[in-house]
Amino acid sequence: MNAVIPLHVEAAGGCSTAPVLKERGQREVFCGLTGIVWLHRKIQDAFFLVVGSRTCAHLVQSAAGVMIFAEPRFATAIIDERDLAGLADAQDELDRVVTRLLERRSDIRTLFLVGSCPSEVIKLDLSRAAQRLSTRFAPQVRVLNYSGSGIETTFTQGEDACLASLVPGLPVPAATAPAQLVVVGALADVVEDQFTRLFAQIGLPAVQFLPARRSDAMPAVGPNTRYLLAQPFLADTARALENRGARRIAAPFPLGVEGTLGWLTAAAAAFGIGAEAVQAATAAPRARAEAALTRHRAALSGQRIFFFPDSQLEIPLARFLARELGMQLTEVGTPYLHREHLSEELALLPSGTVLSEGQDLEKQLDRCRAQQPDIVVCGLGLANPLEAEGLTTKWAIELVFSPIHGFEQAADLAELFARPLRRRALLQAGLAA
Ligand code: SF4
Repeated sequence: MNAVIPLHVEAAGGCSTAPVLKERGQREVFCGLTGIVWLHRKIQDAFFLVVGSRTCAHLVQSAAGVMIFAEPRFATAIIDERDLAGLADAQDELDRVVTRLLERRSDIRTLFLVGSCPSEVIKLDLSRAAQRLSTRFAPQVRVLNYSGSGIETTFTQGEDACLASLVPGLPVPAATAPAQLVVVGALADVVEDQFTRLFAQIGLPAVQFLPARRSDAMPAVGPNTRYLLAQPFLADTARALENRGARRIAAPFPLGVEGTLGWLTAAAAAFGIGAEAVQAATAAPRARAEAALTRHRAALSGQRIFFFPDSQLEIPLARFLARELGMQLTEVGTPYLHREHLSEELALLPSGTVLSEGQDLEKQLDRCRAQQPDIVVCGLGLANPLEAEGLTTKWAIELVFSPIHGFEQAADLAELFARPLRRRALLQAGLAA
């Protein structure tokens, strides 16, 4: 199997102009603190200090697991009753906690103060704290702040807020510097290495990534920067990069063979490299991915899938599952629909796909029950009740924690959907026996 999947747009423009059901009601999603789980692994000399409650500490720790052998790279400064009652000066306490931490941990180069619901409720000004502490600990440590609060953010927006906070401190390239490609969005190291090799084979040898693995390796960004989003949930980061003069390369997202090829082709075109060069450089991994997807297609084709809004990955995932695996989309819900960033994805979605933005939980549950899909993608809080009702579920958060981007991961991504269906079939066979 060596065929090139042509990146063609649906005849009627797919879902570019499709109506979107907008809902603003009760929602069921994790908060932005969850992003710490993958960000602390990615930026290896950063530390995430959540300024929050015991609930926040439990959330991050149970999501990330307790690190036994390594020095942890996240912690929670607990806001207690004295702080909430205004009896203590929270800024002074924060200074004390940060000083103790940085004295003990000389490996930290970037410290993120991460706001939460409680820090917002008591109006603790973390940007003032970050400025004050940055001045005090420069040049050894930069202190930044962002909000991961559930009042403001859903779980992938934590990454957006974190990366946006990095942008003002990025180096500025010389005005005469050549055009530079920056890939934006945290990718698993193994995926980043694969893309680095592919970009070099295509003829783009000096690609940089935001975030970088180390604080002193963050990319320079200015008017000569062309950036390529690797994740669809980075609206604030994109705005911050554009305020610096960087320009976005419009592309589908690198999920599945088609998305990855489209993503690489768009990047290459922005630097004057033709699609033939991309096809030649990617022939081997595409062939491997195509072959690996074949066995999943047999299991997934015709299966009906329903997406509750959760990660903002829903539209690129739906495009991959429908076009490369033949799944039927019953409803594709997303917390926010950024039409500009998702324009290439919407054009590729099958015409007539039901799209919804935001959530009114009870109404959406009713629509899901009426559809009786074969598989439902949803948050952890909905998964168990839906399983109890006899529906098969996939946790949306697993799709963010797992390496799913690129050719080599396309079959792994398909497997994440095939596995729950296999398990259901086995259970049903067992019950029938
Ligand atoms: S930030 Fe808010 S939603 Fe998130 S764990 Fe803390 S209290 Fe809960």
